[in-house]
Amino acid sequence: MRLLFVGDVVGQPGVAFLKEAVGLLAQLGDDGRALAGGHSLIPMMKLRLATPANLVDLAGIAELKGIRSDGNDIIIGAMTTQHELIGSELLKSRLPILRETSLQVADPQVRYLGTLGGNVANGDPGNDMPAVMMCLGAIYHVIGKTGERRIEAREFYQGAYFTSLETGDVLTAVRIAVPPAGHGYAYEKLKRKIGDYATAAAAVVLTLSGGRVATCSIGLTNVAETPLWAEEAAKILVGSTLDAATVKRAVAAAEAITAPASDARGPAQYRTKMAGVMLTRALSSALSRARG
Ligand SMILES: Cc1cc2nc3c(=O)[nH]c(=O)nc-3n(C[C@H](O)[C@H](O)[C@H](O)COP(=O)(O)OP(=O)(O)OC[C@H]3O[C@@H](n4cnc5c(N)ncnc54)[C@H](O)[C@@H]3O)c2cc1C
Repeated sequence: MRLLFVGDVVGQPGVAFLKEAVGLLAQLGDDGRALAGGHSLIPMMKLRLATPANLVDLAGIAELKGIRSDGNDIIIGAMTTQHELIGSELLKSRLPILRETSLQVADPQVRYLGTLGGNVANGDPGNDMPAVMMCLGAIYHVIGKTGERRIEAREFYQGAYFTSLETGDVLTAVRIAVPPAGHGYAYEKLKRKIGDYATAAAAVVLTLSGGRVATCSIGLTNVAETPLWAEEAAKILVGSTLDAATVKRAVAAAEAITAPASDARGPAQYRTKMAGVMLTRALSSALSRARG
C-alpha cells in the first residue's frame, strides 16, 4: 500500500490542491482511495475489509476546510474535523444540532482527526452524521472525473458502505439550509458506553407556529442498512401539539421503517424499540427548545 501526499506527487511538497487530488484519484481508479481522518478507513484496512493499493491523503487541501455562511445556507468543507464542528461559533448559534451530534461521536481523540466528509462519505449506517444530514435536507458537493455535482443526503445512501459516490469522486463540502431561528432540535443516541456507535439514535428538527408543529423532520441512525429519513412519521406530527397519542402514532410509523441487524448491540426487536425511545426523547427535547 502506498500513501500519496498530493503535493509530493505533483512536485510541490507541502502544498496540496483539490484538482490534483481528483486527477490522481481518477488516474488510480479502483487502485486508489481518498484518505481523510483515517478513523474508519484505517481500522477497516487493519481488518482486511479494505485493501486499497494507494491512499490519496486529502489532508492539507485548504479548499476542503472551513465553515462559512452563504446566504441562508452554511457550507462546511469535507475535511473539517468533528472537533472543529464542536468549536464553531457559527454552528453553535445557527445549527446547534451539529454540535450536539458531534459531541456524541466517538471520543475526543477520534474527533480531533475524524472529518465531517469522512463521516458522511463512509456509508457505515453506524455513523452519526448521515441521519442528521438527512434530517436537515443537506446537499453534498461532489467532484469527480465527470465534473462537479450535488447530491441530496436523502438520496445518497444506497446500502451498507454503498453510496452515490463513484470511483475517484471526492466529496468536497456539505451545504445545509439553516432552519428558522428558534427551531427545536435534538440528537438522542443510545450507546453501550462512551465512544461507542449507536444502538439506535434519532435526530429531530422542528418549528412551531401557534403552539403547533409547523414543520418537522426526523432521521434515524443504525437501525437499517442505511441511515433513514422518517418522512411519514414526521408528517403525522405536523399540525399537532405533540400530544402523547400523536407522538405514539409517529413513533410507531418510524419504528415500522427500521430493519436493524441483531448484533452485539442487541436483538433487532430491541434496537427498533430503542429507535422509538430515542425519537420520543428527541421530540420532547426539540419541543422544549422550540418553546424557548
Ligand atoms: C474508536 C472509534 C469510535 C468511533 N465511534 C463513532 C461514533 O460513535 N459515531 C460515528 O459517527 N463515527 C464513529 N467513529 C468513526 C469516526 O467518526 C470516523 O472518523 C469517521 O467515520 C470517518 O471520518 P474520517 O475522516 O476518519 O474518514 P476516513 O476513515 O479517512 O475515510 C472513511 C471513508 O470515507 C472515504 N472518504 C473520506 N473522506 C472523503 C471525501 N472527502 N470524499 C470522498 N470519500 C471520502 C474514504 O475513502 C473511506 O472510504 C469511530 C471511530 C473509532 C476509531
